[in-house]
Amino acid sequence: MVVDPGDAAPVIEFLNEHQLTLSAVLITHHHPDHTGGIKTLSDTFPDLSVFGPHNPKIRGITDSLQHQERCFINDLSLQFTVMAAPGHTLDHIMYYTEGLLFCGDTLFSAGCGRLFEGTPEQMTATLNSITALPADTMIYCTHEYTLANIEFALAVEPQNPSLLEYKDWVTHQRNNDKPSLPTSLQTQLHINPFLRLHQSDVKGYAETLTKSTLTQSVEVFAALRSAKDRF
Ligand SMILES: [Zn+2]
Repeated sequence: MVVDPGDAAPVIEFLNEHQLTLSAVLITHHHPDHTGGIKTLSDTFPDLSVFGPHNPKIRGITDSLQHQERCFINDLSLQFTVMAAPGHTLDHIMYYTEGLLFCGDTLFSAGCGRLFEGTPEQMTATLNSITALPADTMIYCTHEYTLANIEFALAVEPQNPSLLEYKDWVTHQRNNDKPSLPTSLQTQLHINPFLRLHQSDVKGYAETLTKSTLTQSVEVFAALRSAKDRF
């Protein structure tokens, strides 16, 4: 099973190398860097199930899914619950099963997705649905943006000891050509400013940016997100 194959070639290469076949593709949203490989993979594996949001713009979806629907991958005895995740895009969905979340471009380690289509209200509600999951949930983000995100997170919370420690670990991983992902929700709750909107340093940073007193977490989120867009 693969999630968000932007390109079929590395998937086919991996499958050949490990003598595997492909049962299913999970798609989180319509962006080409998440869907570009669907056609070649479907042509290569004619019985392939391609799960994804109900969005006719995405070509090649065989099973479209809505919020709270179940997604069964029979060959792997896996069952996911679909979580609607508007914010980065309006069609965005996430796939949850006990212990892991495929969150697409919603949450990144130490950051979150840009708001291309959704509103700050939608994205904060989506992020709240992630923080409501068990803290030991492993989060599989779709881009390795961690180091760049840490720079922004440190601008927001320069004294956060967990964040400083995490930066050392990520730097070591990346220097050894290893990913920083997946990450746990527990870690993100300690280091990700977008999940720490009530922390005084985070709120203070947003208030400095907007030169106003912010009473709602969605206002803190909106200020942080637009600052990150310009960072
Ligand atoms: Zn995207």
